[in-house]
Amino acid sequence: MRFTWKKGAILSAVSILAGSVILGNVLQDTHADAVPTTINGVQDAVYETADQVLHASDQGTFSVGGMLMDTDGNVVYVQHNNVVNNDLTFDPTAHGERQMIDWYYENKESQNLPEPENIVLVTSLDPCAMCTGSILQAGFSNVVVSANDTYAGINYDKSALFPSLAGTSMQAAAQDSFSYPAVLGLTEKFSRKATGAPVSSVFGENVAIEDQTYALTSTAFDATLSDVSAKINTDLPENELLDPKTLATTDPIYLALKAAYPHALEYTAPSPNAPDEGLAPYLIEAAEQDIANGGDGNAVALLDTFGNLIMALPGNQAVSEIQTPFMLTTRGYAKLRYDLQMNGVADATKYLGHPKYNTFIYAKGMEINPQGLADFGAFGSTMEGAIPTDRTQFQYGVPRATQAELDAFADGLPPFYSADDSVNVHIKQTANQDLIAALEAGLPTTSK
Ligand SMILES: [Zn+2]
Repeated sequence: MRFTWKKGAILSAVSILAGSVILGNVLQDTHADAVPTTINGVQDAVYETADQVLHASDQGTFSVGGMLMDTDGNVVYVQHNNVVNNDLTFDPTAHGERQMIDWYYENKESQNLPEPENIVLVTSLDPCAMCTGSILQAGFSNVVVSANDTYAGINYDKSALFPSLAGTSMQAAAQDSFSYPAVLGLTEKFSRKATGAPVSSVFGENVAIEDQTYALTSTAFDATLSDVSAKINTDLPENELLDPKTLATTDPIYLALKAAYPHALEYTAPSPNAPDEGLAPYLIEAAEQDIANGGDGNAVALLDTFGNLIMALPGNQAVSEIQTPFMLTTRGYAKLRYDLQMNGVADATKYLGHPKYNTFIYAKGMEINPQGLADFGAFGSTMEGAIPTDRTQFQYGVPRATQAELDAFADGLPPFYSADDSVNVHIKQTANQDLIAALEAGLPTTSK
């Protein structure tokens, strides 16, 4: 028996305490308490995630939970959604699976964790695009899903064929990895036949979920969806936002911006949503750091509604392969807002508006692969819902896939990401040719 999660949980708890008072670039997920349990079947496994669902509901965030177990049936790690904490958006990307995969990468070596193919990932709700990309990137090939999500789930059409991933190697990988076990019950609403990949042989003959447990994972999520969405949609309208460049250099918001990114506010785009070549040096500097951090020389800049540069960050793939530049930029901005509000800086959201009014610009365009899928999904989660349609919030400089390929991929994502009345995750090349040329000339090249 191996319950190595304890050390990580304690260290993480210490980091959270430190993180609540120190603004910086270190991102740390909050952690739920793990209970040492040995799992004997699919029902047991989903029951364990249902427990996390209750903790998530109690915290006031989306009621979703998950766990990682090894092939001996030991629970390795448990986690629940942490998008909302203290009634504030803590991290729009803090879905159970995304956090579990970052935790896995961060602790694999130090805790001697099994290889991904010898781990079973169990989740109470169908993975979204971000989490599916994260799972496929990490190579978790045994995934057990309880409830369906017909809006944002990768199996939104319940076919287990994953049409969103058609034309890519991700489709076969998902078909071989994602199991939707049978649900046994007397009601029609809370029972189903098994679809998707066969569940891992780890579970022996116990391959079904009992309907009570399944119903909890399904109804608890449905019950929190509208409440939580309302809670995180309280941001000021765009015309009430104030320009952070007018802040005194001693203001806590100004200081927090500079602590998160020393070049913050050094550049302002000539038109808020249309940066020029003046942005290039910041992206190039971050892209160079991205290579040092194990990436392929990419970076993402974030401009606010006034066109001010808020941050331009590298990824940190040496720590976790899903810590892409986009992921760390959106998480960094959320952390900035969350920490200031938790520290009682009431004006924080007047100067740091909802990200749907901001512009994210990649140095190099995304690729249609698991990391790209995760980024598309993380953009959707960041926006949370419908976004202003009079601009392009999601842009890239140097292309790595054609615009037609990117558009077709975005069009095929589950309804939350592709419906006209929802997020609309389409990414477009930036209009400024001088910016593209400056990036092409200055970005570091790698053999990766
Ligand atoms: Zn997710």
